[in-house]
Amino acid sequence: MQDTYNIIEREEAICAHNYHPLPIVLSRGSGIWLWDVDGKRYLDMMSAYSAVSHGHSHPKMIEAAKTQIDKLCITSRAFYTDKLSPFLEKLCDISGMDKALPMNTGAEAVETAIKASRKWGYEVKGIPNDKAEIIVAKNNFHGRTTTIISFSTDPVTRKGFGPLTPGFKIVDFGDIESLKNAINANTCAVMLEPIQGEAGIIIPPAGYFKQVSEICAQKNVLLILDEVQSGLGRTGKMFAFEHEGIKPDGLILGKALGGGIMPVSAFLAKSEVMNVFVPGSHGSTFGGNPLAAAVGYSALKVLIDEELVQKSRDLGLYMKTKLEEINNGAFVAIRGRGLWIGADLNHDCMTGREFCLKLMEQGILAKDTQHHTIRFAPPLVITKEDVDWAIGIIKGII
Ligand code: PMP
Repeated sequence: MQDTYNIIEREEAICAHNYHPLPIVLSRGSGIWLWDVDGKRYLDMMSAYSAVSHGHSHPKMIEAAKTQIDKLCITSRAFYTDKLSPFLEKLCDISGMDKALPMNTGAEAVETAIKASRKWGYEVKGIPNDKAEIIVAKNNFHGRTTTIISFSTDPVTRKGFGPLTPGFKIVDFGDIESLKNAINANTCAVMLEPIQGEAGIIIPPAGYFKQVSEICAQKNVLLILDEVQSGLGRTGKMFAFEHEGIKPDGLILGKALGGGIMPVSAFLAKSEVMNVFVPGSHGSTFGGNPLAAAVGYSALKVLIDEELVQKSRDLGLYMKTKLEEINNGAFVAIRGRGLWIGADLNHDCMTGREFCLKLMEQGILAKDTQHHTIRFAPPLVITKEDVDWAIGIIKGII
Protein backbone atom coordinates (compact mmCIF):
# COMPACT_ATOMS: atom_id res chain seq x y z
CA MET A 1 0.00 0.00 0.00
CA GLN A 2 2.91 2.30 0.77
CA ASP A 3 4.02 1.89 -2.81
CA THR A 4 0.61 2.85 -4.14
CA TYR A 5 0.45 5.88 -1.90
CA ASN A 6 3.93 7.07 -2.90
CA ILE A 7 3.31 6.64 -6.60
CA ILE A 8 0.04 8.57 -6.43
CA GLU A 9 1.71 11.35 -4.45
CA ARG A 10 4.54 11.58 -6.98
CA GLU A 11 2.20 11.70 -9.94
CA GLU A 12 -0.02 14.29 -8.25
CA ALA A 13 3.03 16.43 -7.59
CA ILE A 14 4.51 16.30 -11.08
CA CYS A 15 1.59 15.80 -13.47
CA ALA A 16 -1.03 18.37 -14.46
CA HIS A 17 -4.31 17.81 -12.63
CA ASN A 18 -6.40 17.52 -15.77
CA TYR A 19 -7.82 14.16 -14.64
CA HIS A 20 -9.25 12.86 -11.37
CA PRO A 21 -8.18 9.20 -11.41
CA LEU A 22 -9.38 6.52 -9.04
CA PRO A 23 -6.73 5.86 -6.36
CA ILE A 24 -5.19 2.80 -7.96
CA VAL A 25 -1.77 2.24 -9.55
CA LEU A 26 -1.77 -0.22 -12.43
CA SER A 27 1.28 -2.04 -13.66
CA ARG A 28 0.13 -4.95 -15.82
CA GLY A 29 -2.71 -6.05 -18.08
CA SER A 30 -3.78 -9.17 -19.91
CA GLY A 31 -7.08 -9.67 -21.71
CA ILE A 32 -9.88 -8.22 -19.63
CA TRP A 33 -7.72 -8.08 -16.49
CA LEU A 34 -5.52 -5.40 -14.97
CA TRP A 35 -3.18 -5.76 -12.00
CA ASP A 36 -2.12 -3.08 -9.55
CA VAL A 37 1.39 -2.73 -8.13
CA ASP A 38 0.40 -4.91 -5.15
CA GLY A 39 -0.61 -7.73 -7.48
CA LYS A 40 -4.38 -7.35 -6.98
CA ARG A 41 -6.45 -8.20 -10.07
CA TYR A 42 -9.29 -6.11 -11.50
CA LEU A 43 -11.75 -6.62 -14.33
CA ASP A 44 -11.45 -3.70 -16.73
CA MET A 45 -14.97 -2.37 -17.35
CA MET A 46 -13.59 0.83 -18.80
CA SER A 47 -11.37 -0.38 -21.68
CA ALA A 48 -9.65 3.03 -21.76
CA TYR A 49 -12.79 4.69 -23.10
CA SER A 50 -13.15 1.82 -25.64
CA ALA A 51 -9.55 1.93 -26.83
CA VAL A 52 -8.91 -1.56 -25.47
CA SER A 53 -11.68 -3.48 -27.20
CA HIS A 54 -9.20 -6.25 -28.08
CA GLY A 55 -8.22 -6.66 -24.42
CA HIS A 56 -4.86 -5.82 -22.91
CA SER A 57 -1.76 -7.19 -24.61
CA HIS A 58 -3.67 -9.32 -27.09
CA PRO A 59 -1.07 -11.88 -28.27
CA LYS A 60 -1.80 -11.25 -31.97
CA MET A 61 -1.47 -7.50 -31.45
CA ILE A 62 1.78 -7.89 -29.54
CA GLU A 63 3.12 -10.16 -32.27
CA ALA A 64 2.18 -7.69 -35.02
CA ALA A 65 3.72 -4.79 -33.12
CA LYS A 66 6.92 -6.66 -32.24
CA THR A 67 7.41 -7.87 -35.79
CA GLN A 68 7.06 -4.36 -37.12
CA ILE A 69 9.19 -2.79 -34.39
CA ASP A 70 12.03 -5.04 -35.51
CA LYS A 71 11.67 -3.84 -39.11
CA LEU A 72 10.62 -0.19 -39.37
CA CYS A 73 8.67 2.16 -37.12
CA ILE A 74 8.65 5.82 -38.10
CA THR A 75 9.32 7.26 -41.53
CA SER A 76 6.93 10.22 -41.87
CA ARG A 77 4.92 10.33 -45.05
CA ALA A 78 7.72 11.98 -46.94
CA PHE A 79 8.15 8.42 -48.27
CA TYR A 80 5.89 5.51 -49.16
CA THR A 81 5.95 2.41 -46.96
CA ASP A 82 4.85 -1.16 -47.56
CA LYS A 83 2.42 -1.09 -44.61
CA LEU A 84 0.14 1.88 -45.20
CA SER A 85 -1.87 0.80 -48.25
CA PRO A 86 -2.79 -2.67 -46.90
CA PHE A 87 -4.07 -1.04 -43.71
CA LEU A 88 -6.09 1.68 -45.44
CA GLU A 89 -7.46 -0.72 -48.06
CA LYS A 90 -8.75 -3.00 -45.32
CA LEU A 91 -10.24 -0.04 -43.46
CA CYS A 92 -12.05 1.24 -46.57
CA ASP A 93 -13.17 -2.26 -47.44
CA ILE A 94 -14.73 -2.78 -44.01
CA SER A 95 -16.33 0.65 -43.77
CA GLY A 96 -17.44 1.12 -47.37
CA MET A 97 -15.59 4.43 -47.61
CA ASP A 98 -13.50 5.34 -50.68
CA LYS A 99 -10.40 6.87 -49.12
CA ALA A 100 -8.66 7.28 -45.79
CA LEU A 101 -6.35 9.74 -44.11
CA PRO A 102 -4.38 8.28 -41.19
CA MET A 103 -3.82 10.26 -38.01
CA ASN A 104 -2.97 9.34 -34.41
CA THR A 105 -5.57 10.49 -31.90
CA GLY A 106 -9.31 10.88 -32.08
CA ALA A 107 -9.16 14.65 -31.82
CA GLU A 108 -6.74 14.87 -34.75
CA ALA A 109 -9.08 12.78 -36.88
CA VAL A 110 -11.97 15.04 -35.88
CA GLU A 111 -9.91 18.11 -36.85
CA THR A 112 -9.19 16.39 -40.17
CA ALA A 113 -12.92 15.88 -40.71
CA ILE A 114 -13.62 19.54 -39.94
CA LYS A 115 -10.96 20.73 -42.38
CA ALA A 116 -12.14 18.34 -45.10
CA SER A 117 -15.77 19.42 -44.63
CA ARG A 118 -14.97 23.11 -44.82
CA LYS A 119 -12.74 22.76 -47.88
CA TRP A 120 -15.38 20.61 -49.57
CA GLY A 121 -17.89 23.33 -48.71
CA TYR A 122 -15.85 25.99 -50.51
CA GLU A 123 -14.49 24.00 -53.43
CA VAL A 124 -17.32 21.63 -54.24
CA LYS A 125 -20.50 23.12 -52.79
CA GLY A 126 -19.54 26.72 -53.53
CA ILE A 127 -20.01 28.27 -50.07
CA PRO A 128 -18.55 31.83 -49.93
CA ASN A 129 -15.10 31.99 -48.37
CA ASP A 130 -14.92 31.70 -44.56
CA LYS A 131 -18.69 31.28 -44.25
CA ALA A 132 -18.90 27.50 -43.89
CA GLU A 133 -20.94 26.19 -40.96
CA ILE A 134 -20.85 22.79 -39.34
CA ILE A 135 -23.80 21.57 -37.30
CA VAL A 136 -23.05 19.63 -34.13
CA ALA A 137 -25.14 18.34 -31.24
CA LYS A 138 -25.68 19.55 -27.72
CA ASN A 139 -23.68 17.48 -25.16
CA ASN A 140 -21.26 16.33 -27.85
CA PHE A 141 -17.78 15.08 -27.11
CA HIS A 142 -15.29 15.12 -29.96
CA GLY A 143 -11.98 15.84 -28.22
CA ARG A 144 -9.93 18.57 -26.64
CA THR A 145 -8.32 20.82 -29.25
CA THR A 146 -9.13 24.52 -29.22
CA THR A 147 -11.43 24.23 -32.23
CA ILE A 148 -13.21 21.14 -30.92
CA ILE A 149 -13.89 22.62 -27.48
CA SER A 150 -15.25 25.70 -29.24
CA PHE A 151 -18.42 23.75 -30.01
CA SER A 152 -18.62 21.81 -26.76
CA THR A 153 -21.66 22.65 -24.63
CA ASP A 154 -19.89 21.73 -21.39
CA PRO A 155 -18.80 24.95 -19.63
CA VAL A 156 -15.78 23.36 -17.87
CA THR A 157 -14.48 22.13 -21.20
CA ARG A 158 -14.51 25.65 -22.67
CA LYS A 159 -13.92 27.99 -19.73
CA GLY A 160 -10.71 29.98 -19.93
CA PHE A 161 -9.67 28.76 -23.38
CA GLY A 162 -11.08 31.52 -25.58
CA PRO A 163 -11.08 33.07 -28.09
CA LEU A 164 -12.99 30.15 -29.52
CA THR A 165 -13.26 29.05 -33.14
CA PRO A 166 -16.43 30.22 -34.93
CA GLY A 167 -18.39 28.34 -37.58
CA PHE A 168 -20.39 25.82 -35.56
CA LYS A 169 -24.12 25.60 -34.85
CA ILE A 170 -25.52 23.50 -32.04
CA VAL A 171 -28.75 21.50 -32.27
CA ASP A 172 -30.57 19.13 -29.92
CA PHE A 173 -29.34 15.56 -30.31
CA GLY A 174 -32.12 13.29 -31.53
CA ASP A 175 -34.42 16.18 -32.54
CA ILE A 176 -34.85 16.25 -36.30
CA GLU A 177 -36.73 19.59 -36.38
CA SER A 178 -33.89 21.30 -34.56
CA LEU A 179 -31.51 20.01 -37.25
CA LYS A 180 -33.78 21.01 -40.13
CA ASN A 181 -34.03 24.55 -38.78
CA ALA A 182 -30.27 24.91 -38.42
CA ILE A 183 -29.35 24.00 -42.00
CA ASN A 184 -28.82 26.89 -44.41
CA ALA A 185 -26.98 27.52 -47.68
CA ASN A 186 -23.65 27.78 -45.85
CA THR A 187 -23.93 24.46 -44.02
CA CYS A 188 -21.16 22.18 -45.21
CA ALA A 189 -21.57 19.33 -42.73
CA VAL A 190 -23.47 17.79 -39.87
CA MET A 191 -21.08 16.07 -37.47
CA LEU A 192 -22.52 13.74 -34.84
CA GLU A 193 -21.68 10.80 -32.61
CA PRO A 194 -24.13 7.99 -33.48
CA ILE A 195 -24.42 7.35 -29.75
CA GLN A 196 -23.20 10.10 -27.43
CA GLY A 197 -20.59 8.35 -25.29
CA GLU A 198 -19.24 10.90 -22.86
CA ALA A 199 -22.73 12.39 -22.46
CA GLY A 200 -23.75 9.09 -20.84
CA ILE A 201 -24.21 6.59 -23.69
CA ILE A 202 -27.21 8.45 -25.09
CA ILE A 203 -29.00 6.63 -27.90
CA PRO A 204 -31.15 8.83 -30.17
CA PRO A 205 -34.72 7.81 -31.11
CA ALA A 206 -34.96 5.00 -33.68
CA GLY A 207 -35.05 6.41 -37.20
CA TYR A 208 -33.29 9.65 -36.26
CA PHE A 209 -30.15 8.94 -38.24
CA LYS A 210 -32.11 7.73 -41.24
CA GLN A 211 -33.83 11.11 -41.32
CA VAL A 212 -30.56 12.97 -40.71
CA SER A 213 -29.01 11.11 -43.61
CA GLU A 214 -31.96 11.91 -45.93
CA ILE A 215 -31.96 15.59 -45.01
CA CYS A 216 -28.21 15.87 -45.52
CA ALA A 217 -28.54 14.28 -48.97
CA GLN A 218 -31.43 16.59 -49.92
CA LYS A 219 -29.61 19.73 -48.79
CA ASN A 220 -26.18 18.78 -50.17
CA VAL A 221 -24.68 18.68 -46.69
CA LEU A 222 -22.07 16.12 -45.62
CA LEU A 223 -22.98 13.69 -42.87
CA ILE A 224 -19.86 13.08 -40.79
CA LEU A 225 -20.07 10.46 -38.05
CA ASP A 226 -17.64 10.43 -35.17
CA GLU A 227 -17.29 6.73 -34.39
CA VAL A 228 -14.10 7.13 -32.39
CA GLN A 229 -15.81 5.43 -29.47
CA SER A 230 -18.81 3.67 -31.05
CA GLY A 231 -16.94 2.18 -34.00
CA LEU A 232 -15.18 -1.15 -34.50
CA GLY A 233 -17.64 -3.41 -32.74
CA ARG A 234 -18.37 -1.57 -29.52
CA THR A 235 -22.13 -1.34 -30.20
CA GLY A 236 -22.55 -4.87 -31.53
CA LYS A 237 -22.13 -3.85 -35.17
CA MET A 238 -18.82 -3.03 -36.82
CA PHE A 239 -20.04 0.57 -37.05
CA ALA A 240 -22.94 2.11 -35.15
CA PHE A 241 -24.32 3.60 -38.39
CA GLU A 242 -25.22 0.06 -39.48
CA HIS A 243 -27.96 -0.03 -36.83
CA GLU A 244 -29.85 2.50 -38.97
CA GLY A 245 -28.88 1.16 -42.38
CA ILE A 246 -27.24 4.42 -43.44
CA LYS A 247 -23.87 5.36 -44.85
CA PRO A 248 -22.13 8.59 -43.86
CA ASP A 249 -20.08 10.78 -46.22
CA GLY A 250 -17.24 10.86 -43.73
CA LEU A 251 -16.29 8.62 -40.84
CA ILE A 252 -13.96 9.31 -37.91
CA LEU A 253 -12.26 6.37 -36.21
CA GLY A 254 -9.72 6.06 -33.42
CA LYS A 255 -9.33 4.30 -30.08
CA ALA A 256 -9.82 0.57 -30.86
CA LEU A 257 -8.11 1.08 -34.22
CA GLY A 258 -4.88 0.90 -32.25
CA GLY A 259 -5.76 -2.56 -30.92
CA GLY A 260 -5.00 -1.51 -27.34
CA ILE A 261 -1.36 -1.00 -28.27
CA MET A 262 -0.91 2.56 -29.48
CA PRO A 263 -2.81 5.58 -30.76
CA VAL A 264 -4.08 5.09 -34.31
CA SER A 265 -6.89 7.12 -35.86
CA ALA A 266 -8.24 7.89 -39.30
CA PHE A 267 -10.67 10.04 -41.20
CA LEU A 268 -12.42 8.15 -43.99
CA ALA A 269 -14.62 9.65 -46.67
CA LYS A 270 -16.00 9.39 -50.15
CA SER A 271 -13.52 10.48 -52.84
CA GLU A 272 -15.26 13.77 -53.53
CA VAL A 273 -14.51 14.84 -49.96
CA MET A 274 -11.04 13.39 -49.51
CA ASN A 275 -9.86 14.77 -52.86
CA VAL A 276 -9.93 18.31 -51.44
CA PHE A 277 -6.62 17.57 -49.74
CA VAL A 278 -3.51 18.40 -51.73
CA PRO A 279 0.15 18.15 -50.68
CA GLY A 280 0.75 20.69 -47.94
CA SER A 281 -2.90 21.19 -46.97
CA HIS A 282 -2.85 18.73 -44.07
CA GLY A 283 -0.51 16.28 -42.40
CA SER A 284 0.97 14.66 -39.34
CA THR A 285 4.54 13.51 -38.70
CA PHE A 286 3.38 10.29 -37.06
CA GLY A 287 0.08 9.69 -38.90
CA GLY A 288 0.18 6.48 -40.92
CA ASN A 289 3.61 5.43 -39.69
CA PRO A 290 4.52 1.80 -40.49
CA LEU A 291 4.21 0.67 -36.87
CA ALA A 292 0.74 2.23 -36.54
CA ALA A 293 -0.31 0.83 -39.92
CA ALA A 294 0.82 -2.69 -38.99
CA VAL A 295 -0.94 -2.43 -35.64
CA GLY A 296 -4.10 -0.98 -37.24
CA TYR A 297 -4.18 -3.72 -39.87
CA SER A 298 -3.84 -6.37 -37.21
CA ALA A 299 -6.50 -4.70 -35.00
CA LEU A 300 -9.00 -5.00 -37.87
CA LYS A 301 -7.99 -8.58 -38.64
CA VAL A 302 -8.34 -9.69 -35.01
CA LEU A 303 -11.77 -8.04 -34.73
CA ILE A 304 -12.96 -10.05 -37.71
CA ASP A 305 -11.11 -13.34 -37.10
CA GLU A 306 -12.23 -13.55 -33.48
CA GLU A 307 -15.78 -12.39 -34.22
CA LEU A 308 -15.53 -9.70 -31.58
CA VAL A 309 -18.39 -7.70 -33.10
CA GLN A 310 -20.83 -10.60 -32.66
CA LYS A 311 -19.48 -11.17 -29.14
CA SER A 312 -20.16 -7.54 -28.32
CA ARG A 313 -23.72 -7.86 -29.60
CA ASP A 314 -24.55 -11.11 -27.77
CA LEU A 315 -22.75 -10.50 -24.48
CA GLY A 316 -23.85 -6.86 -24.44
CA LEU A 317 -27.47 -7.91 -24.66
CA TYR A 318 -26.86 -10.57 -22.00
CA MET A 319 -25.18 -8.12 -19.65
CA LYS A 320 -27.84 -5.44 -20.08
CA THR A 321 -30.58 -7.99 -19.38
CA LYS A 322 -28.74 -9.19 -16.26
CA LEU A 323 -28.29 -5.63 -15.03
CA GLU A 324 -32.01 -5.03 -15.51
CA GLU A 325 -32.78 -8.25 -13.60
CA ILE A 326 -30.69 -7.33 -10.56
CA ASN A 327 -31.78 -3.70 -10.53
CA ASN A 328 -33.53 -2.92 -7.24
CA GLY A 329 -34.08 0.76 -7.97
CA ALA A 330 -30.43 1.74 -7.53
CA PHE A 331 -30.31 2.42 -11.26
CA VAL A 332 -33.00 4.71 -12.63
CA ALA A 333 -32.10 3.94 -16.24
CA ILE A 334 -30.02 1.35 -18.05
CA ARG A 335 -29.14 2.02 -21.70
CA GLY A 336 -26.81 0.36 -24.10
CA ARG A 337 -25.90 -1.21 -27.38
CA GLY A 338 -23.43 -4.06 -27.46
CA LEU A 339 -20.86 -4.06 -24.70
CA TRP A 340 -21.42 -0.37 -24.10
CA ILE A 341 -23.85 0.09 -21.27
CA GLY A 342 -24.66 3.20 -19.25
CA ALA A 343 -26.50 2.85 -15.95
CA ASP A 344 -27.79 6.00 -14.24
CA LEU A 345 -27.54 5.81 -10.47
CA ASN A 346 -30.42 6.97 -8.34
CA HIS A 347 -29.20 10.26 -6.85
CA ASP A 348 -30.32 9.18 -3.36
CA CYS A 349 -28.20 6.05 -3.60
CA MET A 350 -24.62 7.31 -4.06
CA THR A 351 -22.52 9.31 -6.50
CA GLY A 352 -20.94 7.74 -9.53
CA ARG A 353 -17.51 8.09 -8.02
CA GLU A 354 -18.58 6.46 -4.74
CA PHE A 355 -20.02 3.58 -6.73
CA CYS A 356 -16.82 3.22 -8.77
CA LEU A 357 -14.73 3.21 -5.59
CA LYS A 358 -16.87 0.38 -4.23
CA LEU A 359 -16.49 -1.53 -7.50
CA MET A 360 -12.74 -0.99 -7.31
CA GLU A 361 -12.56 -2.40 -3.78
CA GLN A 362 -14.23 -5.53 -5.12
CA GLY A 363 -12.07 -5.91 -8.21
CA ILE A 364 -13.87 -4.07 -11.00
CA LEU A 365 -12.60 -0.89 -12.63
CA ALA A 366 -15.25 1.40 -14.09
CA LYS A 367 -15.56 5.15 -14.43
CA ASP A 368 -18.54 7.41 -14.02
CA THR A 369 -19.52 10.05 -16.53
CA GLN A 370 -21.83 13.03 -15.92
CA HIS A 371 -21.46 12.27 -12.16
CA HIS A 372 -24.17 9.63 -12.00
CA THR A 373 -23.81 7.41 -15.06
CA ILE A 374 -21.69 4.30 -14.63
CA ARG A 375 -20.40 2.95 -17.89
CA PHE A 376 -19.83 -0.73 -18.33
CA ALA A 377 -17.64 -1.22 -21.39
CA PRO A 378 -15.36 -4.21 -20.97
CA PRO A 379 -12.96 -5.42 -23.65
CA LEU A 380 -14.93 -7.32 -26.29
CA VAL A 381 -12.98 -10.50 -25.47
CA ILE A 382 -14.88 -10.88 -22.18
CA THR A 383 -16.67 -14.22 -21.60
CA LYS A 384 -20.16 -14.95 -20.26
CA GLU A 385 -18.61 -16.34 -17.05
CA ASP A 386 -16.74 -13.09 -16.47
CA VAL A 387 -19.91 -11.09 -17.10
CA ASP A 388 -21.70 -13.26 -14.53
CA TRP A 389 -18.91 -12.67 -12.03
CA ALA A 390 -19.14 -8.91 -12.55
CA ILE A 391 -22.93 -8.96 -12.24
CA GLY A 392 -22.54 -10.75 -8.89
CA ILE A 393 -20.28 -7.98 -7.62
CA ILE A 394 -22.56 -5.20 -8.89
CA LYS A 395 -25.56 -6.93 -7.29
CA GLY A 396 -23.71 -7.05 -3.96
CA ILE A 397 -23.04 -3.33 -4.09
CA ILE A 398 -26.53 -2.17 -5.03
N1 PMP B 1 -14.56 11.55 -30.40
C1 PMP B 1 -15.22 10.80 -29.51
C2 PMP B 1 -16.61 10.35 -29.82
C3 PMP B 1 -14.62 10.43 -28.31
O1 PMP B 1 -15.29 9.69 -27.42
C4 PMP B 1 -13.29 10.86 -28.05
C5 PMP B 1 -12.56 10.49 -26.77
N2 PMP B 1 -13.31 10.11 -25.70
C6 PMP B 1 -12.64 11.65 -29.01
C7 PMP B 1 -13.30 11.96 -30.18
C8 PMP B 1 -11.24 12.16 -28.80
O2 PMP B 1 -10.31 11.16 -28.91
P1 PMP B 1 -8.82 11.37 -28.34
O3 PMP B 1 -8.93 11.43 -26.86
O4 PMP B 1 -8.07 10.17 -28.83
O5 PMP B 1 -8.32 12.63 -28.93
